[in-house]
Amino acid sequence: FVLHRAWVTLATNDSYGLGALVVAHSLRRVGSSYPAVVLITPSVTAAMRERLRAVFAEVIAVDVLDSQDAAHLALLQRPELGITFTKIHCWNLTQYEKCVFLDADILVVQNCDELFEREELSAAPDVGWPDCFNSGVFVFQPSADTFSRLIAFGQERGSFDGGDQGLLNSYFSNWSQDTNKRLPFLYNVTSAAFYSYLPALKHYGQDLKIIHFIGAAKPWLQQYNFESRSVDAPEHLKGFLQLWWDLFTSQVHTQLD
Ligand code: UDP
Ligand code: MN
Repeated sequence: FVLHRAWVTLATNDSYGLGALVVAHSLRRVGSSYPAVVLITPSVTAAMRERLRAVFAEVIAVDVLDSQDAAHLALLQRPELGITFTKIHCWNLTQYEKCVFLDADILVVQNCDELFEREELSAAPDVGWPDCFNSGVFVFQPSADTFSRLIAFGQERGSFDGGDQGLLNSYFSNWSQDTNKRLPFLYNVTSAAFYSYLPALKHYGQDLKIIHFIGAAKPWLQQYNFESRSVDAPEHLKGFLQLWWDLFTSQVHTQLD
């Protein structure tokens, strides 16, 4: 058991809290050697904090950081994402030497402990603009200094998309030049790829490590039939959503009142 390394996720409300619970269970399912930590903000309820404490090694309360950038967020058609600036708090986890951040809307489907051998900032390309990285999965090194610099950078320059991804891509702007930091897409397969390149999903799908349910249609917002135990979704998405729901119903829902 190697200390000083941890997975980190974030939930600013109970819905994303459900996602975070599934993230933690997915890490258990694949037998990760590393603990998982969740950052939460004041609006997460006491009941949810208790659930989170049962599966996470640490539940850490942080303040909300919000880009307040309505104009860029409107362009992204995701007005709610200003709050993702809260993610930057992960650099304050200086009790750890190396961490991997995971969005609360991801599912780890195969063990990826090898990610901890990578350096800051390692991440996979974004399908919308592959010279940018997607900030749903990234390897980082906690540092109070980096935290301050990121905050100052955000205050001076803002974020080109209004969310954390724009800020992080501007700050770590040499990412696309360093091939060692460019993670294979298999570590952050965003659901948009299912629509844009289905044959590739068919061809490479069995090597998939992490699936990321980007966009407004989160797994926990999908129609699920508790009698047939199946999720109502397009065929190519169904398998992955089913995996999420199987984990949710077997590990999380049974413990909800
Ligand atoms: N998040 C959160 N509360 C929100 C919005 C986002 O806690 O209201 C966190 C959560 O960890 C989420 C991450 O910020 O996974 C990034 O947001 P999201 O996954 O919705 O963005 P997308 O991946 O769809 O671009
Ligand atoms: Mn996400």
